[in-house]
Amino acid sequence: MKPPEDKIRRLYAQVAFKVPLANAYSYIVPERLAGRIAPGKRVEAPFGSRRATGYCVSLSTTPPPTSALLKEIYGVVDSEVLLDAHMLDLGRWMAERYLAGWGEALEAALPAGVRCQTGNRNVLFLARPASEALETAVTWGARAAKRRRALETLVENDGRLSVSALAERAGVSSATVGSLVKLGLAVVRSVPTVRSRRRREPPVRDYRVDFDLTREQSWALRRISAAIDQKAFRPFLLFGVTGSGKTEVYLRAIEKVVRAGGQAVVLVPEISLTPQTVSRFRARFPNIALLHSHLSAGKRHREWRAIASGSADVVIGARSAVFAPAARLGLIVIDEEHENTFKQETSPRYHARDVALRRAEMLSIPVILGTATPSLETFHAAKSGLVERLDLPFRVEGRALPPVEIVDMREERAERKAFTIISRRLEYRMKKALSAGFQVILFLNRRGFATYLTCRRCGWVGKCPQCDITLTFHRSKNLVECHYCDYSARPPTECPECGHPNVRFFGAGTERVVDEVRALFPTASVARMDSDTMKTRHAYTKTLRDFRRGLTDVLVGTQMIVKGLDFPNVTVVGVISADVALNLPDFRAGERTFDLISQVAGRTGRGPAGGVVVVQTITPGHFAIRTAARHDYLSFAERELEHRKDLGYPPVAKMARIILRGSDLEKVKKTAARVRDALGATGVAGVNVLGPAPAFISRLSGRHRYNLIVKAPDRASLSAALDGVRKLVKSTGNVQGVIDIDPLSML
Ligand code: ADP
Ligand code: ZN
Ligand code: ZN
Repeated sequence: MKPPEDKIRRLYAQVAFKVPLANAYSYIVPERLAGRIAPGKRVEAPFGSRRATGYCVSLSTTPPPTSALLKEIYGVVDSEVLLDAHMLDLGRWMAERYLAGWGEALEAALPAGVRCQTGNRNVLFLARPASEALETAVTWGARAAKRRRALETLVENDGRLSVSALAERAGVSSATVGSLVKLGLAVVRSVPTVRSRRRREPPVRDYRVDFDLTREQSWALRRISAAIDQKAFRPFLLFGVTGSGKTEVYLRAIEKVVRAGGQAVVLVPEISLTPQTVSRFRARFPNIALLHSHLSAGKRHREWRAIASGSADVVIGARSAVFAPAARLGLIVIDEEHENTFKQETSPRYHARDVALRRAEMLSIPVILGTATPSLETFHAAKSGLVERLDLPFRVEGRALPPVEIVDMREERAERKAFTIISRRLEYRMKKALSAGFQVILFLNRRGFATYLTCRRCGWVGKCPQCDITLTFHRSKNLVECHYCDYSARPPTECPECGHPNVRFFGAGTERVVDEVRALFPTASVARMDSDTMKTRHAYTKTLRDFRRGLTDVLVGTQMIVKGLDFPNVTVVGVISADVALNLPDFRAGERTFDLISQVAGRTGRGPAGGVVVVQTITPGHFAIRTAARHDYLSFAERELEHRKDLGYPPVAKMARIILRGSDLEKVKKTAARVRDALGATGVAGVNVLGPAPAFISRLSGRHRYNLIVKAPDRASLSAALDGVRKLVKSTGNVQGVIDIDPLSML
């Protein structure tokens, strides 16, 4: 006899969907699913008027307050748990910190290949022992002959056939096979099509590992080891120029963790995830998993499984590897912690550094933040004692940092009465290097040939019809392009305004630099490296290989060339214009410029021949440029921090940016004003709102953009102020709103 309804202990599930606002919704778990549902698996459930997939975040037997209206879950998607309790918690923290939905945060934690089970297929398994299942079938009448045949075929092929394959083999319909599932005799599970064949890589042996650590390295390692031993959350700033031995410290700290049976995650900027970096880690740790965007979805899924199953000891990856499902995680390393690529620019707009710190705190493990130019955020945290600073002040083997020569381009152009791209000083340095058989790197963070076109008669300037951005002329393609959307067109032969034929191109991009180099050094071979020429991974590898082999004399490129490359034969590095970064309307412009010059400087002076850096600028007196030229990070950071304090900018204050965009300018303005009023009405002390004002890029892909900047003395008041406008910003019909916490992009 069935127990009366109220005696059954009902199971309730809380489910988080990929929507921006809410946290989790409650559902009833029907009895047939009770054995399969678990927190960390995905489920399908009615959501509004549709059927949606969400993450089960918890189960309970106590009915939620609104239980009378609850709906039932339709089904359970995953056969295995994808997110453990720790990851579910981390997701909730992210949702709160970044004002995103819990489900959105969890979605970001799983690679698409894992979510889609790429490389997996659905297979039928018996849900009960074969004898028991067949016994049930005895009671079936003659009309269930087909179903019986399906069941018998399933018993013969347990775990090997999909629904359609079983239907075919048994000569029945898919619906008949489906009825076995409904009766609770069979279940569908997703299994890998290929056994994960993870090669154990033979260790690479071309790296020396037998040297003694320097005094500073030993001290750093001792401090980190102590935290590992104590199983304590402790963040370290490993502060040292390129070549000061930071990576060696990472490697030895990871060794300690792995030897004790733990796992380590190493985050690197996507662009420096080169074979060089990976093979250096592989030399010490044969069981490495990689997670980055150049992997196919199937490969990523396999790597993810290897981490989850515990067979990978070390995970190296870009931003999202901070979510690696390493159950025995003992250490997180973030190399080049100041890099912007650790911030995700779509919702949830998280910063991997902050997520890593939170994850480490939850797990009581140390974090190493390594860099030559700490972000002001990390520098500030170290000053306030939240992060322990470990300095590696010298390059190993005593090589000096290269001298930096500053060229005033206003003077240069005044004296030569022309728009010069390569100054006489840089030309002289290049000539000396090239004639002695050395190589040169020239950096300019603008691709294309000319950065704007204008009419000599009426002053018309070529702008993208959809964005408020000047068009860039690409001579090799003979196109003018917008670098913010996909607009491109043939360059006009006459002015669209006045018909004058004299439309001229101004400003220099990498294409034009290559031209200049060819004109000055006709016998030198020149290669260009930017996103126009480096469309494939292969092109990238080949260009670098040719340069390494000395087949190329001069390498011209955008920021692609300043990260992590090590060419001992490069003795001159030129920064064509340090002003590109400096002149952006962004309170971090100085910090970016300092980073850039420091990184560029790290690309030379690596060999016995030494090297020199030439920085061209029209603002030679700017303190970011002067301190960078002296390799004096501390002076720069102290002064910059004072500056930020005076103006109430991060890291001293907390900031959020609200972007409102839409095709109807009036509506955008009106919504922005309403958001401002609502922010004012929240009345949180110390909160300061700037704007609304048009964004620097005031129109993008046909949509107008308005900005509000919210500054607050601490995180709690920032959250309190934003909480009041969250709904308004994120749910305003024709106008779309974004809240970016700790924004890095101010454009
Ligand atoms: P960073 O990561 O700071 O750029 P690395 O750890 O890559 O520095 O060190 C630079 C080079 O010096 C590497 O080739 C490394 O193998 C070597 N190296 C590191 N520490 C020492 C040491 N204590 N003695 C000798 N060579 C070292
Ligand atoms: Zn004109
Ligand atoms: Zn555009």
